[in-house]
Formats: sequence, C-alpha cells, structure tokens
Amino acid sequence: MAKRVGTVRSVRALRKRVAAWQSAGETVALVPTMGALHEGHLSLVRLAKKRADRAIVSIFVNPAQFAPSEDLATYPRDEVGDRKKLAALDADLIFAPTEKEMYPPDFSTRVQVADVSEDLCGASRPQFFAGVATVVAKLLIQCLPDLAVFGDKDYQQLLVVRRLARDLDIPVKIIGGPIVREPDGLAMSSRNAYLSAKERQIAPLLHGTIKDVASDLAAGRPIDEALTAGRERLIAAAFDLDYLEVRDANSLKPVEGDIEGPARVFVGAYLGRTRLIDNVAVPRTRK
Ligand code: AMP
Repeated sequence: MAKRVGTVRSVRALRKRVAAWQSAGETVALVPTMGALHEGHLSLVRLAKKRADRAIVSIFVNPAQFAPSEDLATYPRDEVGDRKKLAALDADLIFAPTEKEMYPPDFSTRVQVADVSEDLCGASRPQFFAGVATVVAKLLIQCLPDLAVFGDKDYQQLLVVRRLARDLDIPVKIIGGPIVREPDGLAMSSRNAYLSAKERQIAPLLHGTIKDVASDLAAGRPIDEALTAGRERLIAAAFDLDYLEVRDANSLKPVEGDIEGPARVFVGAYLGRTRLIDNVAVPRTRK
C-alpha cells in the first residue's frame, strides 16, 4: 500500500522539512500546481522524483492570476483525491498553503516580468502573468528547492518562470516537462472538465490544427498562408480564437521568412466558455 503523503500549510513548516532534507544531503524538487491533479501534473511529479531525491507538490489556486470575470470560484478542487494520487507516486510532501499564508491582508508586492509576458496569453489576460510570476516567485523563495518542474503545456508560463528565476537570482534550476495528451490529442487540463459533451468532441481539433500548421511550416509553406488556413479551420469549427501564432521557442518573438531556429506554434481559444491553450514544436527539417 502506498504510504501517506504529509501536508504542510505554513511556510515555516515547509522550510523546516526542506532544510532537514537538504542538510542531510538530499536534493529537493518542487512541482507547483493548482490541484485537481491529472496525468499531466502527475508526469511532472514523476520527472521530479527522477531528478531529485525528494518531490514536493504545491497545491494553491492562486487568486492573483484570475481576473474578476474568470473562473476562480468554480475552478475544480479535490485535495483528498490529489493526496491519493500523490501517495501512489511516492511524493514526499504537499504544500497547500491557505490564502492568508500566501497573501496576508496588507500584501503589497507584485512581480512583473516584461517582454516574454506581454504577448500571446499576456495580451488578452493582462494581469495573468503578474499573478503567476508573483506566486511562483513566492513559492520558489518559500521552498528554495534545488529544482522546480513546469509543464510545456503552459509554455509561455515556463519562459516567464525561467526569466524571473534568472532576473531575481533565485538559485533554482527550472525544468520543463512534455505535454501529456488524451488519446485523441487534446492536451490534458483541469479546465477540460468544463467542456460539454459536444465541445469535448470538437476540442481535439485544436491540437490537430496546430500539428498540421507545424508540419506545413516544416514542409516550407509560407507562414502567413499556414496560419490563415489554421485560423480559418478553428473558427469554422466554432472556436472563438484568441491567437494562433508561430514564435521563436526561446524568445517568443515573431518568426518571419524562413524558420531557422527552434520555433513553436501557439494557440489560445475559447470553446463555449472554456479557455483552452496548446502548443507544439515545428519539426526541424534537415537542410
Ligand atoms: P496548473 O495546475 O494548471 O497550474 O498546472 C500546474 C503545472 O502542470 C504547470 O506547470 C502546467 O504547465 C503543468 N501541466 C498542466 N497540464 C499539463 C499537461 N497536459 N501536460 C504537462 N504538464 C501540464
């Protein structure tokens, strides 16, 4: 039987556990999440266990990254189920702070990462990345792990986190884990639970479309043409498209002309009231 996973709710208790492990010579990995864990999250926990002696999973639905019109109140929560899933993976600790622990009433600081935050998801959700950067900076400083694991699913977020750790000299290695998908290609997401049966049938087209755009680009189709075809396909299938773009995989800068370095296709779209995002690498062609 899997052993139980302990839960701490205060920064003080978290630091005590991490300090005990690190002073015994063990390395510690942190996997930040908002809970309602699915296979995508669990793959990151497995990666954390592989790369470090101890894996800590934080569970905190971060109010600072939701706009007032967004789904904070209805965001799925399942701490009991999460704890069982983490016990089965032999995770070492859950950090599930209260809102007051993270944001005392006079909390006044905001971490704003310019440049990589500003486009794609950042353009339509202006407060989102400041909310993410603030909470991730706090989590990294609270825990001071040796490494922290984030999913490629939220690729722009991964770049924002890398940049903030570097800019603020937080001594932690940031690792990205591959996107875990449903058998029909839909990227796993806690928000998939919001989809109606009909929307769930349409949803895999998001991945199908960016995959086709990426292979068209690899085959040399002009960028504008490939993107226009992809956008039209998604709009015709009832997506309310926020963006479909190809970007440099390291800087997120627009790519023009020939694709030379690593590039990715990014999409953000609403299906009914559910916001979905996804991305894929443009396959490298040998010249
Ligand atoms: P969230 O709970 O949505 O904030 O996600 C927590 C972490 O899990 C983030 O680093 C996400 O990028 C990652 N994640 C979410 N869905 C997936 C997925 N389908 N595959 C890989 N990582 C994921």
